[in-house]
Amino acid sequence: MTHVDDFARAYACPDCDADKRLTRDALGIWHLTLIHDDTCPWYRRYLRSERSA
Ligand SMILES: [Zn+2]
Repeated sequence: MTHVDDFARAYACPDCDADKRLTRDALGIWHLTLIHDDTCPWYRRYLRSERSA
């Protein structure tokens, strides 16, 4: 197990079984993206707040 795996696990979505995508940029910095289910309550809340901002 790597340090990056621990990092990814800590950022799991509490509401759905989100896919985690780890990418590494040219500077060697890891970026974590959560890919939520369409039905995820958290994700829907997030989209609403984005739209009203
Ligand atoms: Zn989610």
